[in-house]
Amino acid sequence: MVDRSAPSQPFVYLDNGATTRTDPVVVEAMLPYFTERFGNPSSIHALGARSRRAVEEARAEVAAALGCDPDEVLFTSGGTEADNLAVRGAWNASRGSHVVMTNIEHPAVLSCAEWVRAHGGEVTLVDVEPNGIVDADHVLAAVREDTAVVAVMAANNEIGTVQPVDRIGAALRQKHPEVFFFVDAVQAFTKLALDVRAIRADAVAVSSHKIHGPKGVGALYLRRGRRIEPLQSGGSQERGVRPGTENVPGIVGFAKAVELATRDVEADRRRMAALRNRLLEAVETHLQPVSLNGDRHRRLCNNLNVNFHGARAEVLLHMLEAEGLYCSSGAACHSQKRGPSHVLRAIGLRRDEGSLRLTLSRHTTEADIERAIDILRRVVPRARAMAPAH
Ligand code: PLP
Repeated sequence: MVDRSAPSQPFVYLDNGATTRTDPVVVEAMLPYFTERFGNPSSIHALGARSRRAVEEARAEVAAALGCDPDEVLFTSGGTEADNLAVRGAWNASRGSHVVMTNIEHPAVLSCAEWVRAHGGEVTLVDVEPNGIVDADHVLAAVREDTAVVAVMAANNEIGTVQPVDRIGAALRQKHPEVFFFVDAVQAFTKLALDVRAIRADAVAVSSHKIHGPKGVGALYLRRGRRIEPLQSGGSQERGVRPGTENVPGIVGFAKAVELATRDVEADRRRMAALRNRLLEAVETHLQPVSLNGDRHRRLCNNLNVNFHGARAEVLLHMLEAEGLYCSSGAACHSQKRGPSHVLRAIGLRRDEGSLRLTLSRHTTEADIERAIDILRRVVPRARAMAPAH
C-alpha cells in the first residue's frame, strides 16, 4: 500500500505552477518500466510488446482527458518541446509566413516568434488587456492572408488568466480554416474543463509535471489530417513526427497522473478554488495595500498573483523561504532575470514591486493555507519596512 499523504515537510509549498511533487502512486506505476518491463516499444518480442501496450494504454488515457482519439496524441519530452513542435512544425509545414500570438505566451512559445523572424517570417504579438486577458477580436483582426499559425495559451502561467480560446477557435474555423490554431494548455490541463474539439484547436500542448506526474514528459494533441514537420529526424516513433525511443516509464507515469487528476476533477477544482479564495481573502483583509494581478474571476482555480505594494519581491521571497513558505515572484523560468516579467509588464506593471505567485495543487491542504497566511502576516510588514521608500 502506497502512502499518498504528503510527507510532513518543514515548509509549505505554494509553487505548483513551477512544478508539483510526483505522486507516490505515479512513482509506483513507473517503477516496473525501469526494471522488469524495460523493453523497447519498437522491439517485436514479448518485452517490447509489453512496453508498446503500456504506451498505447497511456495514449488512450491522455486522449480521453483531452477529448480526442488516441492516434491524435503524440508524446514529447514536455511542454516546451510540444510548444516548439507545434509552432515551428506547423510554420515549416505551411506556405504561410505570418504568425500571430499573444504577448503573454510562455517563453517556449514566444521564443518561436524569434525563430520565425530569424527564418524570414513575420510575427504579430497581440497585447492583452490590463486584466491579463486577450480580446478575441484583437487576435482575429491580426490574422492576414498569409497567416500560417495563431497561438493563444489556454491560461497564463504567471497570473493564471483564462484566455478566450473557444471563441478564437470557433471564429478561426469559420473565417480562416486553413490557419493552424495552437493552444498551450500546460497550466490549464485538468484545472479547466478543456475539450480540444470544443475549442476547435489543431494542436494543444500539455505537460506531466504540472499535475503530479514526472518531469520530462508531455504530449501534443495534433488534430487528424493536420500536418506538421518534425523538428528532429530519426525513426518512425510517434508517427514519425517525434522520432526517438519513447520514455516509457515517463509516459506511464504521466498517464497515471492524468488518471488521478481526472478521477474527481470537479471536486478537486472546487477545493483548490476555495483554499485559494481563503488565502486571497486573508491577504486582502490583513495586508493592505495589495492588488491582484490578473482578472479576479477568469483565472485558474489554483493561481494567485498578488502585488504586495511597498515590498520588493526578491526580499519577500527570501524572507518567506526563511519562514518556510515556498512560492515564486513569477514564472520559474523568469527567476534569473531582473525587473517585472513580460507578463507583468504586459498588464502595466512598471516596477519590480512585491508581486508573488502563489500556486496550489490538489495536494494543498487547509493546514498549508493557514500556515501560509500566518507566515505572510508576519513577513510582509517586515519586508515593507526594509524596502526603500519609492
Ligand atoms: N507552457 C506553459 C504555459 C508553462 O507554464 C510551462 C512550464 O512552466 C511550459 C509551457 C513548459 O513546460 P515544460 O516545463 O514541461 O517544458
